[in-house]
Order: sequence, then C-alpha cells, then structure tokens
Amino acid sequence: PPAVHARLAARGLVKRFGTTTALAGVDVDVADGEALAVTGPSGSGKSTLLHCLAGILPADEGAIRLRGQDVSRLNEAKRSLLRRKHYGFVFQFGQLLAELPAEENVALPAMLLGASRDDATRRAREWLGRLGLSGMEGRRPGELSGGQAQRVAVARALITGPSVVFADEPTGALDQATGHEVMQILTETTRAAGASLVLVTHDEDVAAWCPRRIEVRDGHIVSRGASR
Ligand code: ADP
Ligand code: MG
Repeated sequence: PPAVHARLAARGLVKRFGTTTALAGVDVDVADGEALAVTGPSGSGKSTLLHCLAGILPADEGAIRLRGQDVSRLNEAKRSLLRRKHYGFVFQFGQLLAELPAEENVALPAMLLGASRDDATRRAREWLGRLGLSGMEGRRPGELSGGQAQRVAVARALITGPSVVFADEPTGALDQATGHEVMQILTETTRAAGASLVLVTHDEDVAAWCPRRIEVRDGHIVSRGASR
C-alpha cells in the first residue's frame, strides 16, 4: 500500500492506452515540500505518470494517497475537485486563457474555489508582483514573452495554496537562458509556498533544479537518486 507519511504516494500504477502500456507498475513517493524530477526520453511515460499522479487520468491499476488519504478510486467530478483544491499545474504552453488579462488568469483558480472577485484579484496582483510581473497585470498572454507567460502560469498554479505543483516540460517552449530563469523562480516560489513539486522533463539541465530524480523508460522506473 502507498506510504501514509509521504505527502503523495503511489504504488503499482499501471496505465494502458489500447495495446500500449504507458505505465507498467510504478511506485513513487513525494515528500513534504520536496522537488522531484521525473526524467526519461520522449514516449517513456513521464506525462502519463504526471497525469495519473495528479488525477487528470484514472490509473487502470495501483493506489495513490495524498496525505494518507486514498485518492485512487475517485470519479471524474471528485478528481476535478481534488485537482482544483490541492494541486497546481504548469504545462509547456497553452494553459492560460488567451482572451483574459494576466491578473484574471491568475485570479480564476481562486474564484473557482469560492474567493470573491475582489479578493482573488488582490491576491493575483500580489502573486504577479512576487514573480516580477508588476505592471503586466493587464496584458493578455499574447502580449507577454514566453518567459513572462510561464511566470503567470506559476502564479496561477500557486494562488490556491496547493499541496503539490505538477509541471510538465515547463521550459519546453523557451530558450535555455529563459528556461533557467523560469526554473529558478518555479523552484524558489514553490518551496517558499510549502508546496511539493513534481517536474517532468526530458532535459537533464532542467532536472538538475530538483534535488531528487527518478528516471522512467518504457513505463518503468529504471533509476532513482540525487540529481547531479
Ligand atoms: P512522455 O511524456 O515521456 O513523452 P507519454 O506519457 O506522453 O510519454 O507517453 C507514453 C506512451 O503512451 C507513448 O507510447 C505514447 O504514445 C502513449 N500515450 C500517451 N498518451 C496517450 C493517449 N492519450 N492515447 C494513446 N496513447 C498514449
Ligand atoms: Mg510528455
């Protein structure tokens, strides 16, 4: 059974797509406040692992606990609520709503959890300031640089005070220097917020921002250890 002391713990996760076995029995523990990198080549199962851990997709087999609570047999409506309340997400691109200004993109998850528009907007502005985006509150995603847009995405992921932030190739659309800046701010702000981070990347330099890593190949974890 999954560890009860870990913030997030999974045992024996299996996920199939038709005849493809994307996850072939994966065990993962994520400790309180730790940053864990999930590495491996394209098609190895990294994103599928993130999707199953975060309740975006139901696993076919296996068990997942969040702070000791079994979250592996929830229906889609309950998984949706779980994600909204306990998790934040940063993807490669496309998670921001193009027609909304930055501050409304950031405020939205807080409003979906019941915050008033005024309170959510005030908190969104604070987060944008913390991420170095003062003055950008009214810009739409298309009016921001790629790095600025990812910092808005980090603010959006953190505004609800999540237990775990899941990031899937968050630097994948950025040049190396900008990717570096985004990783620095993602790891610092996530740690300062007390959230754990699960970072999926095929890039060893990006993985090195996390103290610990697991390597996935063909749906199996083939190595676990400290990042270089
Ligand atoms: P990675 O993120 O490491 O590149 P993925 O988790 O996206 O890998 O994919 C793992 C395997 O599962 C691949 O063979 C991929 O083609 C397959 N796969 C992933 N998602 C789907 C899906 N929605 N439908 C069918 N096959 C999928
Ligand atoms: Mg992927």
